[in-house]
Amino acid sequence: MTDPDGQARVLRPLLYPRQASRISRRNYRCAGRLQILDLAVQELARHFRSYLQDHDLGGVWGRLLRLGNYPLLAPAVRASVQRLAREFLVAEDERSIARVLRRVGAIPASATFDAVGEAVLTAAEAEHYVYRNLRLLDWLAAAGGVPAISVKLSALTARFDPIDPTRSKERALVRLRPLIARASELGAAVTVDMEQHELKSLIVDAFVDLLAEFPQTGWQPGIALQAYAPDTPGIVERVIGAARERDRKLCIRLVKGAYWDTEVALAEQRNWPVPVFLEKGETDAQYEALTARLFDNADVIYPAIASHNLRSLSHAIAAARLRGLGPDRWEVQMLLGMANPLAEAVAASGVKLRMYIPMGDLLAGIAYLIRRLMENTANNSVLRQTYVEAQNVTQLLKPPQPVATPSAPPTTHEFASTPLLDFSRPAVQASFRQALNDVARSFDQAWPLDIAGSASQRLQSQTCINPARPNQVLGSIELGEIAHAEQAIANAVRAFDRWRETPAEQRAEICMRAADLMTERRQRLAALEVFEVAKNWREADADVAEAIDYLRFYAQQMRTLAGRHPTICYPGEPNHLLYEPRGVAVVIAPWNFPVAILTGMTTAALVAGNPAIMKPAGPSTLLALQLLQILRDAGMPRDVCQLIPGNGPQIGAHLVDHKDVAIIAFTGSREVGLSILQRAAVVHPGQREVKRVVCEMGGKNAIVIDRDADLDEAVLHTLLSAFGYQGQKCSAASRVIVVGEAHDRFVSRLAEALDCYSYGPPEDPMNVFGPVITAAAQRRIENYIEIGRSEGRLAYRGKVRGEGFYVAPAIFTDIEPGHRLAREEIFGPVLSVMRARTFDAAIAMALDSDFALTGGVFSRLPEHIELARRRFRVGNLYINRKITGATVGAQPFGGMRMSGTGVQAGGPDYLKQFMWTRVITENTLRHGFVPPPQGLSVKS
Ligand code: NAD
Repeated sequence: MTDPDGQARVLRPLLYPRQASRISRRNYRCAGRLQILDLAVQELARHFRSYLQDHDLGGVWGRLLRLGNYPLLAPAVRASVQRLAREFLVAEDERSIARVLRRVGAIPASATFDAVGEAVLTAAEAEHYVYRNLRLLDWLAAAGGVPAISVKLSALTARFDPIDPTRSKERALVRLRPLIARASELGAAVTVDMEQHELKSLIVDAFVDLLAEFPQTGWQPGIALQAYAPDTPGIVERVIGAARERDRKLCIRLVKGAYWDTEVALAEQRNWPVPVFLEKGETDAQYEALTARLFDNADVIYPAIASHNLRSLSHAIAAARLRGLGPDRWEVQMLLGMANPLAEAVAASGVKLRMYIPMGDLLAGIAYLIRRLMENTANNSVLRQTYVEAQNVTQLLKPPQPVATPSAPPTTHEFASTPLLDFSRPAVQASFRQALNDVARSFDQAWPLDIAGSASQRLQSQTCINPARPNQVLGSIELGEIAHAEQAIANAVRAFDRWRETPAEQRAEICMRAADLMTERRQRLAALEVFEVAKNWREADADVAEAIDYLRFYAQQMRTLAGRHPTICYPGEPNHLLYEPRGVAVVIAPWNFPVAILTGMTTAALVAGNPAIMKPAGPSTLLALQLLQILRDAGMPRDVCQLIPGNGPQIGAHLVDHKDVAIIAFTGSREVGLSILQRAAVVHPGQREVKRVVCEMGGKNAIVIDRDADLDEAVLHTLLSAFGYQGQKCSAASRVIVVGEAHDRFVSRLAEALDCYSYGPPEDPMNVFGPVITAAAQRRIENYIEIGRSEGRLAYRGKVRGEGFYVAPAIFTDIEPGHRLAREEIFGPVLSVMRARTFDAAIAMALDSDFALTGGVFSRLPEHIELARRRFRVGNLYINRKITGATVGAQPFGGMRMSGTGVQAGGPDYLKQFMWTRVITENTLRHGFVPPPQGLSVKS
């Protein structure tokens, strides 16, 4: 924001509106309500200040907000803030509704209402949303006229998830039923609002189903569609088709789209195609084309042209006139509080106008309010351009210029994350279901041990089972014995020289090929994860995507580390440094990221030139075999890349102790990690290398929730962080420290939100949560829950049924920093909640741990966020988001203290741990002659 005076000019009429809907204190009869209102406004003023502090707001508004820092003037500021806020968001009581109806009636306009509120995370919140809308319908009916409301389907259920469309729709429709029934009685209009792209097909499908389910004609159905999405014309056709098929008049509210920034940012974060036009001209052009399409179908469609753009509105008016459509055949919609003069002008021109009126609590609607305020003042805002920058009318009425943005040319060498599968797409759901079926058909195979040179003999086998159905056998695997470990090391020792001499580029190419093969097989691999380690669809897919990233990332890194790196060079004495592989690497991996972690550690060893022997964790050995197959198919020589399934304390320990092993790459528990560090320090007879241990261990990760945190975000993200994959992530949240009075509300919302999730076999996408990995893990976690009962208060315990290794999730409160629940890694769905009086104290409690892996902070106060950045020293700190789900390259992952040795996987320094550096110096002076420097970037 560069023009403060301009903003002031936009804001002034908003601050001191002519017909402001003032909330008179007299309206609030009891002192209690007054106090709550005052608190809400106080909070609002503070948040406006903190959100807008980066924007140099000038003029009256800016001065006012700054003055709010002086206690004596604070009441005046609060009064203005409240007046401003209520310009956009009407209070939720019958009298205020009646008043605003009178106000818009004077324009003249009709109204449609939208009950704005917190995100719906619990069943009670969804019920309340329905109740608010039912009450709203009655208030509107009592005020006279045709009631009109807009509903968000995502607010009708805590889980409106496109991955499980049928049941998500069912859940939403169950709550919509009473609303539609009441709307039918009152002859009301109900418009289904459009939301984020991910929910779009689900919303459109639900709307079409709705027409079939509620054929009664008393209510007037409508749907909002967004012109900023290139796929909207198809949806418009579908709605027109549905209207014709059912012989039913449907309203389409055509909007430009309200989630543009989020859609663009999320698509870029996920490396998904951006689902909206990048150029505003394209949206405007599509808006006009769709307007025309709606008018051409005005026999079955009632177009509601929702815009504040002078050109879009003028185009609509002209298009309607051209087709001879009178004011009863279509309408313009505008938001309350935005562009009041334009609204008056539209109404005066004889066009039917409806005001879109958000209604709700000031604090709950804060996100909405901030958006409106920003829209009114942003430099590129249509309102600002129209009313402040005084462009001439010809310019404002210029036809849109639909300039498409050229897509960036693909870069061959730059690393880009593997996009996760978009499970909101029905085609992706179908192909994943197919992969699950295919994998299920291949169960019960026997996998022989494959170590070159070992004599064939009958070996003990491990039966692999599905933790969700322990009686389901997935396959059986021959286990290696000490002699096989010896043979594997001997093979690797022999292979070392040849592999070290293989050009780095060739090694990198094999990894890139493996990445391509894994990409081809990704759905089958992820499907196997669903069965073998009980990850849900999204978690399983993310694990495989991360593995692909490791293959590409380390291959790319090796390309930059290969060859000669000049150090300081003198004339006649050039120096250079080389990265050299260290020798035989043993890779010992956990089961919880069964493909990603094993692939990451193994790729780092291999691409750097070290032969690798993988020792996977018992519960994920089938997946490890698939990885071995991919690496071999990509061209990894058999003796360079080996896998030996077996018992950790036996085979794993033997490999660690072996004199010919140079590197041990380990990820797992603190207990095993520390024992490996200790054993690796012992020098055995004949040993030539000092062993390098790359060691990543556990965590006891904390999330700090500040007094003013956005609870919508804090609750949802804590839920995902603590209970995602049943809490079996090293990065999972297992402690939450809540500051001050936010505690009780946070705990009750979290518990109620968690209660909306179902547990069961994860091959059904309805089940976000599944069993834990083994019966032993189940017993260990249940034991911690017993400890928790004696240490704190069990605030929530979920309910699970089923034959698998299920542990019902538990939330404990009143946990003290000294309790075992606050100190020990549980690695299951158990969350300990603690209280802190101040934010400082909360950070200190978070740091009071042997571990330092991940951490999180939810706060809206910039000074607290800054404090956390400085003091909350963990490997990965996440601010206002979940603390799991690090991505390779973007969020290198790993911790300090008892969590690891401090060099992060997927980061710039990780690969170097698998190498040592060698420096070569040459005297090139020949009888006083200094030859020119040789090419120094020759790849080895
Ligand atoms: P674990 O320590 O029990 O086992 C890890 C691996 O070590 C397995 O392959 C196992 O067979 C092997 N092993 C066991 N005893 C051994 C011994 N004496 N010598 C050599 N190898 C031995 O851990 P887990 O249950 O597989 O995984 C869960 C743990 O891993 C948790 O503590 C979690 O926090 C941690 N983890 C850490 C990270 C990280 O990046 N920091 C990532 C994932 C998991």
